[in-house]
Amino acid sequence: MSSPLLQVRGLHAYYGSTHVLHGIDFEVRQGGITTILGANGAGKTTTLRAMCGMVRTQGDIILGGDRIDGKPTESIVRMGVAHVPDGRGTFLNFTVEENLRIGAYTRKDKAGVQADYERMFNYFPRLRERRRQQAGTLSGGEQQMLAVSRALMLQPRLLLLDEPSFGLAPRIVQELFEIFREINQASGISMLLVEQNAALALRLADHAYLLETGRVVISGSAESIRNDESVRRSYLGY
Ligand code: ATP
Repeated sequence: MSSPLLQVRGLHAYYGSTHVLHGIDFEVRQGGITTILGANGAGKTTTLRAMCGMVRTQGDIILGGDRIDGKPTESIVRMGVAHVPDGRGTFLNFTVEENLRIGAYTRKDKAGVQADYERMFNYFPRLRERRRQQAGTLSGGEQQMLAVSRALMLQPRLLLLDEPSFGLAPRIVQELFEIFREINQASGISMLLVEQNAALALRLADHAYLLETGRVVISGSAESIRNDESVRRSYLGY
């Protein structure tokens, strides 16, 4: 078993005086895919935001042995954490090409950036066709593909994905999740995936945590969670 890339212990998060996460523990293995499941308002988005210093937290967040809690977002990005926020996070007035170049802003290896740029178009051929188009003119699915590609241009160690299936047609979702698997297998990029679509997330992930009102109530291998009676009833619908 490989060691964790990300270890989170006793994590609390707050918006002002609102206490949203109540001491959660979880990890993402090196090269692994962890999913955090839960209903609306459970704290999934907040958990991802906490990983990149975007909310006030208490507790330990350890990336590859280094504490990242309390660090500014900019430093966390430079340490290899890329965030694909809900609502996509592309620069709508910039072209596809420009978005990808912006994604690589921390990198100095020009040849590597160029190779990754081509790689993104191989993953998502539709982006190649639309590379001179403004991101704002793309379909929802294409914008999601661009948001993921932009994050990957950072060459992250850890990719944070917030509800990537949201609002997309089932066929596009299928395509996107197949690419996630391919990227994970080809480049070993670890992923932390937040999803309301539990069935979908549990097919991709190796580990899962179920959040309810800011607390982890069930955790384990994706397979064991898939077979958990209460998860099946409440989140999988069978
Ligand atoms: P959803 O799928 O609806 O986004 P979620 O599991 O991602 O749900 P969060 O968005 O993390 O949940 O929200 C957790 C709790 O924190 C909710 O009760 C929400 O109302 C509250 N919350 C979220 N953002 C803020 C904010 N900026 N200020 C105050 N409270 C917030």
